[in-house]
Amino acid sequence: MSAINLAIVGVGKIVRDQHLPSIAANGDFKLVATASRHGTVDGIPAYTSIEAMLEAEPSIDAVSLCMPPQYRYEAAYKALVAGKHVFLEKPPGATLSEVADLQELADKQGASLFASWHSRYAAAVEAAKSFLASTTMKNMHVIWKEDVRHWHPNQEWIWQAGGLGVFDPGINALSIVTHILPKPMFLTAATLEFPENRDAPVAADLYFRNADHVPVHAEFDWLQTGKQSWDIIAETEAGRMELNEGGSKLSVNGELKFSAPEAEYPALYRRFAEIIKAGTSDVDLAPLRHVADAFMLGKRKVVDAFYD
Ligand code: NAP
Repeated sequence: MSAINLAIVGVGKIVRDQHLPSIAANGDFKLVATASRHGTVDGIPAYTSIEAMLEAEPSIDAVSLCMPPQYRYEAAYKALVAGKHVFLEKPPGATLSEVADLQELADKQGASLFASWHSRYAAAVEAAKSFLASTTMKNMHVIWKEDVRHWHPNQEWIWQAGGLGVFDPGINALSIVTHILPKPMFLTAATLEFPENRDAPVAADLYFRNADHVPVHAEFDWLQTGKQSWDIIAETEAGRMELNEGGSKLSVNGELKFSAPEAEYPALYRRFAEIIKAGTSDVDLAPLRHVADAFMLGKRKVVDAFYD
């Protein structure tokens, strides 16, 4: 199979940090165009809208949609109608229903739709899944606390409705948890803290359980300065499992079991090529469903205004 001609829509932070190097290192893809109102990539034909790009570049086979989630559906719809395979950055959309609609359209068009969850490809995630499958879990504690001013400076969309606020990183934790848990969990109670001047939460406290009443407690906080925490801790019959540093390190009873350098986006592009070649899609909405449940079930607490 010749290289898949790929276009990127929404050239911003994550495209420069992760997509461009991962695409350049993957022989299955050739970057042939971009569509972005301001962003461009040196040496690559650039358009300011997806419509203009699809019209001018009929050789495009696939598009990666990397704009904020509130604006992703329209672009995905246009790409799928044009018969292109579609890679959705996380979260895959602003609502569950719009992604379900895209799933149906992709099936109808015979195109591959990839709802990517980069944290699921963190180095030690599969090892954690195997460990939990080999024992009985008693409880899980998820601590995802980071400094929004450091990681998302002046990103207005993230504080607007549909931008998810602290769930923008928190959904990464949920994408790991939903992948490694042997049984599905569901939310039983939540508190979401909204700054008085914002439409998205800055902190969330979430209580889940599964059918066996095993509790999972998740704490998301966006005002953590100093040490940043991206940890998942499970007490099990085989001891205490810690999945640290966003899923890149696994230890059991304090002993390091698995660790490897970060390579999430190269793995995402390998997966995208794999589903295109197989003629399938990969869309798991469980992490987004939990976020929707939190907005539906959670108590709302108004807290101090947030300024960048
Ligand atoms: P970003 O840099 O703020 O936005 C990406 C690009 O989208 C912008 O440069 C902009 O390009 C375009 N855009 C912004 N607002 C738009 C609008 N109203 N309509 C259409 N296009 C718009 O954001 P990012 O950090 O790259 O994040 C993009 C997505 O990747 C998010 O869903 C995020 O959750 C996910 N992600 C981000 C990170 C990270 O560390 N930043 C990590 C993993 C995943 P133009 O102005 O040129 O159109």
